[in-house]
Amino acid sequence: MTESVLEHVDILIIGAGPVGMTLHLALAAGGQKSLLLDRRPRPAGSTLEVQQSQQNDPRALALSYGARQLLEQINAWPTRAATPIETIHISQKDGFGRTLIDRADYQLAALGYVVRYRDVAAALAGQLANEALLDSVEILDITPADDHVSVSVRHAGALHQIQTKLLIHAEGTPGGDPAVKVSDYHQHAVIAEITPQPGHQNRAWERFTPDGPLALLPLGNEYSVVFTLPPAKADAVMAMDDAAFTAALQNQFGNRLRFTNPGPRSRFPLFLRMREKLVQGNEVWIGNTAQTLHPVSGQGFNLGIRDAWQLAEILLKNGVDRSSLASYAASRRLDRQGSAFFTDQIVRTFSNDFGPLKLARGLGLLALDICPPARHFVAKRMIWGARAWP
Ligand SMILES: Cc1cc2nc3c(=O)[nH]c(=O)nc-3n(C[C@H](O)[C@H](O)[C@H](O)COP(=O)(O)OP(=O)(O)OC[C@H]3O[C@@H](n4cnc5c(N)ncnc54)[C@H](O)[C@@H]3O)c2cc1C
Repeated sequence: MTESVLEHVDILIIGAGPVGMTLHLALAAGGQKSLLLDRRPRPAGSTLEVQQSQQNDPRALALSYGARQLLEQINAWPTRAATPIETIHISQKDGFGRTLIDRADYQLAALGYVVRYRDVAAALAGQLANEALLDSVEILDITPADDHVSVSVRHAGALHQIQTKLLIHAEGTPGGDPAVKVSDYHQHAVIAEITPQPGHQNRAWERFTPDGPLALLPLGNEYSVVFTLPPAKADAVMAMDDAAFTAALQNQFGNRLRFTNPGPRSRFPLFLRMREKLVQGNEVWIGNTAQTLHPVSGQGFNLGIRDAWQLAEILLKNGVDRSSLASYAASRRLDRQGSAFFTDQIVRTFSNDFGPLKLARGLGLLALDICPPARHFVAKRMIWGARAWP
């Protein structure tokens, strides 16, 4: 290893995922420099397109109309890769009641958009300056002091000591951190793309089944399927051949569409992870590292973008100072707790086959359909996130 290099930066962001990059670009738009670190490599021969493992990420994200507006402000909206959602159909398997949310009721071009994770990451990475990101780093040590944080990293065979006024954690879903409360949903999301017959007409479906929610998101000419199942059933679904998988999906969905040509499948175990304290000294946690939610109703990245945006606004207005971090934590309380509660309640209320609850769910869906204020609340949460609250 070569000699250690000492650097000073005002703001260091660990994690160049979509949330970390959004924060970096929002700060840069206001004239504030920051440095991103990521453990993943950039693809050989490319400048700053998209990092290697992000290229292979099979996830599609439902992004709210509000998220689009924020990404547009930093020139990172992937127009050609985004499929608009014009209507959302919500129902339960083997039960009555359904509701339909329609963009026409809100005078919007779309309720939201579906974009592959890798396309959002590519659009953001495309806006980064070359020197904005140190890739393939290994974080060796983080030492907090009163007025700064020291971070030791290994990069390209050299040891770097980086001193930063503020350290932002955007490393994504935390593993085994005692500061994070974890609740296991005992569900896995199996995801795949599949072709609907006839076409999807820009309709998203959210269908509640006793095994867990099933979401179909329009993506190009396909549906991106999020098939939520108990772990043992997810094992079985992952092992199926394409014909058996298509039949299992058809059985959960019903006959309103026919499915063909399923693509490769991936799976994600699902947990609710909530970090109790967002700020500690000169460090702050944002995006999935602050809260990781169940993917039902597509709140996670939308919430992460709002974290990044709010933090950038406060730092630009109040200065790069730990007191800004306290204002940030206070300002995010309602949005993160509201989003986590909304998502968690949907999963717990809808993922079972208990007769009276099924009846109540049917009545709830019926009430949503015939009661415009209740329907508007759900619609606005999809369109704007926290601004759904009056
Ligand atoms: C199946 C599924 C479907 C989903 N659907 C939706 C949806 O429809 N809508 C929605 O809004 N959200 C959805 N989400 C949630 C969404 O994917 C996340 O909220 C979002 O990816 C979080 O972004 P992030 O930047 O915080 O973390 P990540 O995307 O995980 O990025 C973290 C980055 O940090 C880097 N990193 C990690 N550790 C280190 C380290 N020690 N040192 C250096 N770098 C490090 C990683 O390499 C990575 O680049 C879904 C999630 C799943 C699992």
